[in-house]
Amino acid sequence: MIEDIIIAIDGHSGCGKSTTSKFVAEYFNYKYLDSGAMYRAITLYLMRNEISHNETDLIKDKLNDINITFHYVDGQQHTFLNNENVEKEIRGKKISNFVSKYSSISIIREYLVSIQKEIGKGKKIVVEGRDITTIVFPDAEIKIFMTADIDVRAKRRFEDMKKNNPDITYSDVLKNLTERDSKDSNRKDSPLRVADDAIIIDTSSLEIDEQIKKIIDLIKNKFS
Ligand code: C5P
Repeated sequence: MIEDIIIAIDGHSGCGKSTTSKFVAEYFNYKYLDSGAMYRAITLYLMRNEISHNETDLIKDKLNDINITFHYVDGQQHTFLNNENVEKEIRGKKISNFVSKYSSISIIREYLVSIQKEIGKGKKIVVEGRDITTIVFPDAEIKIFMTADIDVRAKRRFEDMKKNNPDITYSDVLKNLTERDSKDSNRKDSPLRVADDAIIIDTSSLEIDEQIKKIIDLIKNKFS
C-alpha cells in the first residue's frame, strides 16, 4: 500500500479522466471526487431556476440552497442535488452545453473550491477536474495532466453518451468538447493549464486499462 496522499488529476474533456480516476481510487482504496459533477449539478440547479450565468448576485444568494452529495447506486458513485439523484441528467447534452459558462463564474468557483478543499483534508483521495493541480490542491503529492487528440476524445465520448442520449451525433460531441476546451482554457478565473510539476499523459493511443495501469505504476513507484 501507499502513504496517505492526494492524487490530483486535471485534463481536457473526454480523455478518460473520470474512468481512470475511479479505478485508481478503487485500487488504492481511496475516496474519489469528481469535481466536474459538482459544476454540472450547480449548472442544473441554476438552469432549472432560470438563473442565467450573468446574475451573479442572485447566484450568490442561491448557493446556500444547493446541496451536492455523492452516494453509491448499484456500485457506481452518483451525484445528488438536494437529495435528488441527478446523475443521468447532468451528463446529458443540455448541461454539457452550458456547464462551461457557469463554471467560469468566480463566485461559483470559490464556493466549490472551498468544499473540495474540505473534502480533501483527510488525504487518501483521487480528485479530478480542471483546476485541481493548480488551485484546489497545488501541494498534492502527485499531479497528473491527461490529454488526447480531439477526434479520439470525441469518438470515445460519443460512444459513451449515445447510450443515454439516442439523438446525439458525433458532430454534436466534437463541437461540445472543442467549445469546452476553449472556454475552460481561456476563462479568467482558474483556467485549465498544465501545472509546472504535473506529469503529462497523452491517452490518444492507450486503452483505458493501459491508462489506469500507467498511473497506478507511477504512484506505486513513487509512494510505496
Ligand atoms: O469533468 P467534466 O467534463 O464533467 O466537467 C464539466 C465542466 O465543469 C468542465 O468543462 C468545466 O467547465 C467545469 N469544471 C471546472 N473545474 C473543475 C471541474 C470541472 O471548471 N475542477
